[in-house]
Amino acid sequence: MIQNLLKKIDSKRDEIVNTLADIIRIKALSPENGGDGELDKAEYVTGLLKGFEVKRFDALDKRAKDGIRPNLVTRIKGNRSKTVWIVTHLDVVPEGDVSLWKSPPFEPVIKDGKVYGRGSEDNGQSVVSSLFAVRTIMELGLEPEYSFGVAFVADEEVGSKYGIQHLLKENIFKKDDLIVVPDAGSPEGNEIEIAEKSILWLKFVVEGNQAHASKPVGRNASREAMKFILKLDESLHKKFGKKNSLFSPPVSTFEPTKREKNVDNVNTIPGLDVSYMDCRVIPDYDIEKVFEFAKEIAEKHAGVSVEYLQKESSPPTPEDSEVVRKLSKAIETVRGIKPTVHGIGGNTCAAFFRKAGFHTAVWSTVDGTAHQPNEYAVIDNIVEDAKVFAVLPFL
Ligand SMILES: [Zn+2]
Repeated sequence: MIQNLLKKIDSKRDEIVNTLADIIRIKALSPENGGDGELDKAEYVTGLLKGFEVKRFDALDKRAKDGIRPNLVTRIKGNRSKTVWIVTHLDVVPEGDVSLWKSPPFEPVIKDGKVYGRGSEDNGQSVVSSLFAVRTIMELGLEPEYSFGVAFVADEEVGSKYGIQHLLKENIFKKDDLIVVPDAGSPEGNEIEIAEKSILWLKFVVEGNQAHASKPVGRNASREAMKFILKLDESLHKKFGKKNSLFSPPVSTFEPTKREKNVDNVNTIPGLDVSYMDCRVIPDYDIEKVFEFAKEIAEKHAGVSVEYLQKESSPPTPEDSEVVRKLSKAIETVRGIKPTVHGIGGNTCAAFFRKAGFHTAVWSTVDGTAHQPNEYAVIDNIVEDAKVFAVLPFL
């Protein structure tokens, strides 16, 4: 039966390519990025699932077409009510500098086994893979072991308020459901992301006394800021120095980054210095403790105050969790490769699921061209990932 399912997906190769091409043409930009949302694309996707039940959960947003940010959900009942979900997003990012593109970003080009266009990899490839996975199972009238849910959501690129966060409030996902988010991956499809470092963005304001540089009276805010930041940098690395081999690099990172402009001229001592630090902390540490520690160091430096701009963390998904085991087995069944698990320093929308208590795996087979000019999806990857998704609820 599995062989039959895989063969059926192979036979749809051309249809799969054409569908991705159509999807690229429907520019689904969020209002923040100057677009009118995902409604047209959602309607197109719904049309491809004609004859099957598709529920739409609208988040209301006056700025979008018809005031709607659509989220689509379709589900096949399996032997068990526990559901394996594939969650992809309908929105795309703008083209960026159009002069860097070899062809118009929203006109698909099919060449050398690839489909080029904005949103082809992120997240069009996985929209299409998951769509053909669920549709093929439906067409064959198969009943999988697990129930199989596919969700197409809005607003992933700009915060997920109208997308995943909206669906989580609607209680679509049940306790113990398994979540796969194919929105990042590796070229061989052999890496499953199960954890993210916590993010802490710190802002430091250092006050001093502005004066003529030839007569340095009082505190030079720039010098005090440098002293403080070096001390903090050193202290953070020392205090939070553990390694976690899931990640590369395997340690927490604490990087002084932005520094706001101060005085205009060389001969004035600045009375104010504002600077920032990007901290990515392995899940072995509580991000609150890191922030508290930074404040303690600041208290020892006169005139220094610390606040945070971002403080986000999500619990890692256990390596031996059901979703990781099932997904690994599906990849092995279809591809004959044993994937490994790893963590990343960035932030994906999987964090929303993990924070809500769902075990979530991020996986797909991609070259990593998302958000770049000349973004593309490899056709073999679209088809092979569709097979992995289709097999998943049967294992
Ligand atoms: Zn994405």
